[in-house]
Amino acid sequence: MKNKKIILIFFLSIIVFLTINEFFYYNINENQIYPESTPKYKITDVNTTNNFNLIYKYFNEYLYKAKGFEVIETEHFKLFFKQENRSNVQIVASSAEKTYDIIGEMFDFFPRFKIPVVIYADQSSMARAFGWPEEEKVQGVYYMGFIHLQSPLGNKDYFKEGPMVHEYTHLVVDELTGGNYSRWFTEGVAQYVEQQVTGYTLDMDFDVDEKTKYQLNDIFYCFDELPDTAVAYLAALDMTKALIGDGQIDEIKNVFSMLKSGACVNEIFLQSVDASHMEGEHIAMANNTYGGVQDE
Ligand SMILES: [Zn+2]
Repeated sequence: MKNKKIILIFFLSIIVFLTINEFFYYNINENQIYPESTPKYKITDVNTTNNFNLIYKYFNEYLYKAKGFEVIETEHFKLFFKQENRSNVQIVASSAEKTYDIIGEMFDFFPRFKIPVVIYADQSSMARAFGWPEEEKVQGVYYMGFIHLQSPLGNKDYFKEGPMVHEYTHLVVDELTGGNYSRWFTEGVAQYVEQQVTGYTLDMDFDVDEKTKYQLNDIFYCFDELPDTAVAYLAALDMTKALIGDGQIDEIKNVFSMLKSGACVNEIFLQSVDASHMEGEHIAMANNTYGGVQDE
């Protein structure tokens, strides 16, 4: 009788876990559906709002193996890949380890656990894995401790041109804030670090509509629903730069520790930045409504 109960509880736990898992993936899909006209290249990811637990990590690592992914471990990463993509694993591995060192120095943070990285053979197999439209041009995703990447396809400049630095920074934000942050903030920090390390900014890939601007509340509360994703991301970068002022990485670390103690990043922003004088090309000061404004 006791054994039966234990077995029942065990299966119920699995069902509850799978349900939660589905729920999070559902949220990913929701957040990633942008209008067709929105540029999608390199606009990446969704991330966790809490540091979900090790069960998620181990369970999913097991799932990837069950789905036919092979694993190669480097000093700090576990790389999951399909056999046909083996020749690209070394490029990702060296890019990942370089990122680990450089960003580790910047933030004085060197995770001791091995970070799982899932490499997809191409754009469409990655889109399929997340239930996105086939044409979704996403290069990388950070989600609950996992970095998901499209294959570098032999690109020798992958460290500079790929999304590893950006996605890895999301992991750092997640870890150092204890999962307490807003979407705009992690996108702002990821772009800030990317710009420092590789020189990349979004406007190198997009014709950014200079007329579209968003109000602070749009960025605070509706970041993933804003129709012009590139403008929203650049606004988040402007806001992050305004927030840290001349303090650079040290100031980002200060904000991280405040967030880890339970502070709210939107409140920190409003207290430390004079928004009415904020120098940013993508923020509107007008009291417009959700959805952004177009200058006349
Ligand atoms: Zn991102």
